[in-house]
Amino acid sequence: MEKSDTTRPTMTTESGNAIPNNQNSLTAGPRGPMLMQDYALIEKMAHFNRERVPERVVHAKGYGAHGTFTITQDISKFTRAKLFSKVGNSCPMFARFSTVGGESGSADIARDPRGFSLKFYTEEGNWDLVGNNTPIFFIRDPLKFSDFIRTQKRDPGTHLKPHWRRWDYWSLSPEAIHQVMILYSDRGTPYSARFMHGYGSHTFSFWNNAGERTWVKFHLISQQGIKNASDAEATRLMGENPDSSTKDLHDAIAAGDFPKWTMKVQLMPERDAETYKWNPFDLTKVWPHDDYPLHDVGVMELNRNVENYFAEVEQAAFEPSNVVPGIGFSPDKVLQNRILSYGDAHRYRMGVNYQQVPINQPKAPVATYNRDGLLRVDGNGGGGVDYEPNSFNGPKEDPSVAEPPIRIDGNADRYTTYPGDDNDLYGQPRALWEKALDDQGRTNLVENIVGSMSNPTMGIADPRPIQERMLKHWHKVHPDLGGRIAKGLGLDQRRQAAE
Ligand code: NDP
Repeated sequence: MEKSDTTRPTMTTESGNAIPNNQNSLTAGPRGPMLMQDYALIEKMAHFNRERVPERVVHAKGYGAHGTFTITQDISKFTRAKLFSKVGNSCPMFARFSTVGGESGSADIARDPRGFSLKFYTEEGNWDLVGNNTPIFFIRDPLKFSDFIRTQKRDPGTHLKPHWRRWDYWSLSPEAIHQVMILYSDRGTPYSARFMHGYGSHTFSFWNNAGERTWVKFHLISQQGIKNASDAEATRLMGENPDSSTKDLHDAIAAGDFPKWTMKVQLMPERDAETYKWNPFDLTKVWPHDDYPLHDVGVMELNRNVENYFAEVEQAAFEPSNVVPGIGFSPDKVLQNRILSYGDAHRYRMGVNYQQVPINQPKAPVATYNRDGLLRVDGNGGGGVDYEPNSFNGPKEDPSVAEPPIRIDGNADRYTTYPGDDNDLYGQPRALWEKALDDQGRTNLVENIVGSMSNPTMGIADPRPIQERMLKHWHKVHPDLGGRIAKGLGLDQRRQAAE
């Protein structure tokens, strides 16, 4: 909005010194050279040169919005979290949605899982649910994470993204196949965040005041329904508007059409985990709804656009380690690793005091003995005592928020990701093919896979060894799926089936 000259603030340096002229630099004579004493010019250029923080290694392209989360059903018998203590409780929250593999300027609509990161500013501190729009993931051992991610990024030699890299890796990592099927189904190109579900993906835990633990999976079900771009529409949108999903969410909120998601949970009694037919902590598997039905918990509404992208979205730091009393982790190996790696990544990107950036600040009081570090801006504890225990009234522990003990069994060893059980690898992918997809969904899945596994997309002189290795997996998921992909690739179906 335009302001009159009398109400416009005076332009200053970062130190508040008024700037007399922002059009002409200080020179010796009209033709130069420049004078080094032009501190306003030097600060302006130096600041510009340092504007970027490193982009996220994964989930670099994203957008976000503020909202509220309101409890609609009483689940207080499972968790002591105050947020869930009664129907009607609510808290402010922030959401960021992203693709995984692309750089910060890449297209929103790319075929990729979507990050679905939520920060709930509760009265007991921040609770972050850092999930995806898929209930599962490609790996179940975090040792494989960086290898997998490299297959989604650029070739180190050519800086291109040929698809042979991903299919080579997946054909040698069959635990990925369940997620690969979701990725190449219609849900691999969601139209925007408004039209996709979100999942905590990992198994987490609830614990109550009686010390009872319940394993839990979180689902955020879109009240707008599911809407996906076809492969052709996605290709068109990438050129027409690479920021199509960013714009969709922004415009909806600006128009007062606030998107909502219903939070639901699946609940598993602690002891069930020992006998359940699947490993409930395996990130490549869902808990089938028939075994563990969904229960409503609350509603999340996004109702306020960000005012400054860098301050609120680029600096947003989500981390699965942010939990409140009554919500805990599980033995899921990938979750265990993410508890470490998210804070580690934020410390690298933004420095050790990243939690003091306003978008990351809890609304609950912070009372820590951590001190100093790059860009500390919270008063640094003032003159208060900086060690613990102390007899000077410093913050004290609260034993009442200790999580109940968890029984862990087993010898320390490196346990195989491939126990050699076909049902373990292909059972749930088969259920996706047979049960979750309709005829059109199956046809689209086959076409999308064939498009990606064929040249020129594969981008390798002889794709056949990789294609044939991958076909063996598709046949094991379902002969119909394997047969249709083999046909689409022009490979000998009978020979493949016989192998
Ligand atoms: P159900 O028939 O009860 O549920 C099928 C689920 O699949 C629904 O949640 C449905 O979402 C979802 N779905 C449909 N199409 C796709 C797709 N292209 N990509 C991802 N999800 C999709 O079956 P089960 O619970 O017995 O699970 C069967 C299979 O469904 C699983 O093996 C898994 O592959 C998939 N699935 C299961 C989920 C779970 O938590 N149990 C969650 C998501 C997928 P919607 O509710 O919108 O219809």
